[in-house]
Amino acid sequence: MRVHRTLVVRRKIEEIPPEKLVKFLEVQQKFREWATRWYKSGFKEPMPAESSLKYFAKELKFALRLLPTNGLKNGVWKVPLPFDAQLRVNNEKDQSRGVLVDLSRGDIRIRQWGGGTIEIRLRKSEIKWIRQRLEEGGQLKLAYAWVGSRRSNLVTFNLALVFAKETEPYQPRRLLVVDLNVLHNGVVIATVEENRILQRGVLRPDLRKINNIQREISRYDRLCAKKGEHCKMATELKSRVWRLLRHFEDEMAKKLVRLAVQYKATIVVDVPLDETMRKLKEGRYSPGKKIYLNIGRLRRRIRELAEWYGAPYLEERLYSTVCPRCGGKMRELSNRKVKCLCGFEAQRDLVPILWAQRRFSELVQPSSFSPNLLPAPVL
Ligand SMILES: [Zn+2]
Repeated sequence: MRVHRTLVVRRKIEEIPPEKLVKFLEVQQKFREWATRWYKSGFKEPMPAESSLKYFAKELKFALRLLPTNGLKNGVWKVPLPFDAQLRVNNEKDQSRGVLVDLSRGDIRIRQWGGGTIEIRLRKSEIKWIRQRLEEGGQLKLAYAWVGSRRSNLVTFNLALVFAKETEPYQPRRLLVVDLNVLHNGVVIATVEENRILQRGVLRPDLRKINNIQREISRYDRLCAKKGEHCKMATELKSRVWRLLRHFEDEMAKKLVRLAVQYKATIVVDVPLDETMRKLKEGRYSPGKKIYLNIGRLRRRIRELAEWYGAPYLEERLYSTVCPRCGGKMRELSNRKVKCLCGFEAQRDLVPILWAQRRFSELVQPSSFSPNLLPAPVL
């Protein structure tokens, strides 16, 4: 089956020449307007007349076959600009595609969008990432560009490079159980072989570091009311927290999938119900801790990496308060332990692992990969 991995090259908008940025935003706006009409018309809206928009419309049809869309949001389709792309490793002929990723020169050129060429220097880490995907048999299939902001209020210029390859999942013999919960409690993982636990651990972001930065953020937020420059500082610190968490998620997903491949395990992720998370988000959860509730990205990262490396992946509820011995509802004790009327008692974190052992043969062999779970770039 075909699997994908995406590298998002993100740059401060200050790094894009202002006149090109203005033009780019204009094209992005116009294309989104057309794409929204096209979407709403059930894909019957005629192709746009303007040549660069026409180029994107054609590329979009191709891109949609590869990656599912996240659809309309508040009545607008915030679709990124899709490009055909070429990866130049040595000195191959330039095929005049919209995006040329040139490893020999160490840069990216973005063209065909109706405003000249936008050049971006590749960072060493990005070149390394691309070379690794090539070694794994990946090929650059297409690119998306957009200007926008994410959780932090920082507006950036973004280019997503989508790599694809064919892969077949391996024959699993074990389970890698992942209890994906609010991140500050840590993500509990365990590798299980029928009745044995081969490996177990808890992964946590650097809570102390994040706490310290958050304390500074609230200080700057208070000062911000008086003086503008403090606001900027607060924003910068917020994006630093976000980067720290993102780094943790990336490292954690990598570590996890590496373990799964090493143990030839099916990854079983116990994800809390959306409903539960929504209630926590809306509830009186302490504001500083709310950032740990966003487990969606980590979940997508694990899934994407699992597919890329051929690790079978499964999402399954493994209850931590239902007794794995008798199925009864257990009582929670103070020290993160749970106890059942039947006499069973264990650390709360251990219960999902026991459940996974009990259902071992059923879980180890998921019927197939779930198709269409591929994440489009999050916009
Ligand atoms: Zn029991």
